[in-house]
Amino acid sequence: MRNRSLKKKRKHKNSKNHFWSLFHLIFFLLLTIISQVGGVLYLFSVLVYRLTSSYKKSLLAFITIYALVSGVLLPWFSSYGGRVPLPVNHPYLKPANWFTVITNRHYVSPLVKQELISAAQDIAIENKGYQMIYLDANFPFINGFPLIPHLSHDDGKKVDIAFTYSKDNQISTKLPSIWGYGNYVNPDYTPKQVCPNAGTVYGITEKLPFTNYYNELNINDKLNAAVARRLLKAQRLEKIFVEPYLRKKWSLDHPLVRFQGCHSVRHDDHFHIQFR
Ligand SMILES: [Zn+2]
Repeated sequence: MRNRSLKKKRKHKNSKNHFWSLFHLIFFLLLTIISQVGGVLYLFSVLVYRLTSSYKKSLLAFITIYALVSGVLLPWFSSYGGRVPLPVNHPYLKPANWFTVITNRHYVSPLVKQELISAAQDIAIENKGYQMIYLDANFPFINGFPLIPHLSHDDGKKVDIAFTYSKDNQISTKLPSIWGYGNYVNPDYTPKQVCPNAGTVYGITEKLPFTNYYNELNINDKLNAAVARRLLKAQRLEKIFVEPYLRKKWSLDHPLVRFQGCHSVRHDDHFHIQFR
């Protein structure tokens, strides 16, 4: 009788352990996919919980060490691997949102940083009130480590730049989508026109929530064309991806302005800039 209840207890304990192992694994993978280093730091907080049996202390440990690593250590150590963070507080170049920065998705090679600052400054001098807004770039370390959901942001040489909008005929530094992605210049343009066999990836960004958060903004055609033209003058620029109808509309007839292909997400909500 006693043996049976001991067995039952052991079985219950085992299934509980399996549940927690799976829970930790999912969290580890999720945080690694989102921020590269978050998964490893999560394991540290699990260790703190094992030592203290306190959820509060392990959460506090995670937040403290994450802030310290992301805010101080990564910008310092990433430079040894040839990547630097894009500026967070710069008069002409800024992130679309804090999520990009907190999750370490704003790292590029020093040359890319220099070229973006220089281009943003030149455009701002001619267009008062302009700020270049960057979206996802790359993680701080490891060539080939993907920045999901992007296919190619894995070497410090790719960065997405948001389109520029106007409000009441004035240049705005706001974006209609809080992510910078998913609000298309021409929502009636369907992928099927260009990619009859396009998969679900092509229009996946429209499924994000809050893509029409600031809906009083209008696309600034003239300035977007000027931004692309100035970026084309950057050193070691390899290509710019934008949807073919915008290439035509903004008169960007240049061999480095290209269609990204049907395997990727659509590019009528941002420029994808790629350096050599
Ligand atoms: Zn991109």
